[in-house]
Amino acid sequence: MCGPTVYDYVHLGHARTYIAFDIIVRYLRFCGYTVNYVMNLTDVADRIVERAEELRKAPLELASEYEKAFFEDMQALDIDCVDRYERASDYIPQIVDQISGLIAKGVAYETNTGVYFEVKKYPKFGQLSGLSREELGLRRLELCSSKKNPEDFSLWRKHEKGFGWDSPWGFGRPGWHVEDTAISMSNFGDTYDLHGGASELMFPHHEAEIAQAEMLSGKAPFVRFWLHTGLLSIGGRKMSKSLGNVIRIRDSLKEYSAHELRYFFGSFHYREPVRISDAGLEHARKALESFSKNIKAFMETPPKANGRNSEKLENIIRRTEISFRHHMDNDFDTPNALKALTGLSTQLQRFAKSAFRVDEKSKERAETALHTMSNVIGILPD
Ligand SMILES: [Zn+2]
Repeated sequence: MCGPTVYDYVHLGHARTYIAFDIIVRYLRFCGYTVNYVMNLTDVADRIVERAEELRKAPLELASEYEKAFFEDMQALDIDCVDRYERASDYIPQIVDQISGLIAKGVAYETNTGVYFEVKKYPKFGQLSGLSREELGLRRLELCSSKKNPEDFSLWRKHEKGFGWDSPWGFGRPGWHVEDTAISMSNFGDTYDLHGGASELMFPHHEAEIAQAEMLSGKAPFVRFWLHTGLLSIGGRKMSKSLGNVIRIRDSLKEYSAHELRYFFGSFHYREPVRISDAGLEHARKALESFSKNIKAFMETPPKANGRNSEKLENIIRRTEISFRHHMDNDFDTPNALKALTGLSTQLQRFAKSAFRVDEKSKERAETALHTMSNVIGILPD
């Protein structure tokens, strides 16, 4: 999973992506899969160096401050599925190895400004985003006269001094794409199952990752399934620092609980774009309130032996479980899985009425099922 560049506080766009993948991993584990979930942290990047210079700090010191803030925000959102966070700065030897390997294979070249990957040596470039070679060249017109072709991307940037490391190509810093393949291939080998990230990372970042990895290993595919989350917008515009409409996770958590935010994001399919609005968040809050109220009413009703009612309830639970799994199996369709859950809560509230009480075993079974499924989305009321 492509994690954040740690040079500022994370915002709701990050929350949208990391909550979506937290739900996906929770569901895979719910199904019995063993998931080894690694998220990388980009702590080596020009943006970090620039920000650190403004604030007169060391780049890695600034990165570690925002990394700490990021962990706090992830915890506050109940995002607890990640097994390991890996920093780019801890993988410099592996990055240098990968660049050397690409040069040895004849797909990367050194110039007076750095080392570049020669995109035309990898004919499948563009397969993920579906862009043509021409479009790729136009989009990737980096202002650098020393490159052979406009679409070639940077593996190593030479710097005279400042923040960086020594390498066979002189002092400098790695490019972003090779930081991530060094981390993922060191952890998972040449091929692995899932790679996630926001949809704007598909090009050029993920295209570049695939090209590097497959040229290095000689094996394909590098990743079996790519999962991309839809963009987050606010007032019809993308949430971004340059537009000045960024809402930080820690600020939104002053108004909405983690459960409310997870319910809100869960009501969108992960690939769908999300429009943030007060009305939408209020709607999620109300829906979660009635969900919790229904469950509470059911749980507070004492059990009573009644075979017919208990059987009825067990049937409802079974149907809900089937429906929940059916929707989640359909490319993690959380909006419909949530509907199955809220439908169950409405039914449960009916069993809170004195005439419809159920026996202890059925009550426990209902509570366990509800607990397990709600926990996949992470909306379990306290
Ligand atoms: Zn990445």
